[in-house]
Amino acid sequence: MEKTEGFEIVVAKHSGFCPGVKRAIRMAEGLLESRGKAYSLGPVIHNPKVVENLERKGLLILPEDPSRWDDLELIGEAVLIRSHGIGPKIREEIRKRGAEVVDATCPKVRRAQEVDEELVSQGYHLVIVGNPEHPEIKAILDRFTQPPTVLPTPDHAEAWLNKGPLPPRVAVTAQTTAGEETFHRVVELLSSHIAEIKVVDTLCEVTKRRQREAAEMARAADLIVVVGGRNSSNTRQLARIVEGCGTPVVQVETAEEMDPSVLRGKRRIGITGGASTPDEEVKKVAIKVMGIR
Ligand code: SF4
Repeated sequence: MEKTEGFEIVVAKHSGFCPGVKRAIRMAEGLLESRGKAYSLGPVIHNPKVVENLERKGLLILPEDPSRWDDLELIGEAVLIRSHGIGPKIREEIRKRGAEVVDATCPKVRRAQEVDEELVSQGYHLVIVGNPEHPEIKAILDRFTQPPTVLPTPDHAEAWLNKGPLPPRVAVTAQTTAGEETFHRVVELLSSHIAEIKVVDTLCEVTKRRQREAAEMARAADLIVVVGGRNSSNTRQLARIVEGCGTPVVQVETAEEMDPSVLRGKRRIGITGGASTPDEEVKKVAIKVMGIR
């Protein structure tokens, strides 16, 4: 914590790159060093600055939807699968085009995929708390012929329950980066309506720690600055958690975006960053905030 007269800045201990993202970036850099060129399926992480840096080193980004690859040949090329993982159909599509799949799926995401597959094989209707548009969820949906139900919020859960008819046996899991409170509220709602319900918490521990810390900081701060890509779901989730605590929040991708006017009248400022935000970027924002004061 930095203190100047009547002014405090607290930087979150749990911010910056998570282990899964660090591993994916290391693997991308290793591939580029050995080959000079490699593909990734979608941006390796949801942080434009980091991705631009990898592109300068030779990374080419494939659209996530293979129907947009046209007649692209990938014979002998390497295609990196990012930490969110992919489904079997896309994996097959890459192989069919002659490329080597280099798999940087985060082990925690892989565990969630395995849990989901196991629950479906046991005959449960799978409900996943998460964002249906997130690549991690798309990779899971790609595995099943009977689509699981994906519920982003308790409101969506209520709507699903009211729509009926409800399956008699339901298993509930989560996107690894979903909000912990959202997960528990959806589970609570479903538990009061479903005859047999099995709950497996597949939330990532690293994300839980980050979210809990953001909430604690928010309760003691006048303003929270969340650093991270606007396309990063876990970064936006941090901002939502802070908002839920009733604390003003600003999200910036870089220190240059930090608008001095938002600090006016604020004494206690907390700074945190998403899983795809480099530690240096969080530090740069902290230095900028101190400079403005
Ligand atoms: S947030 Fe958690 S699950 Fe997602 S990549 Fe990072 S460590 Fe893995």
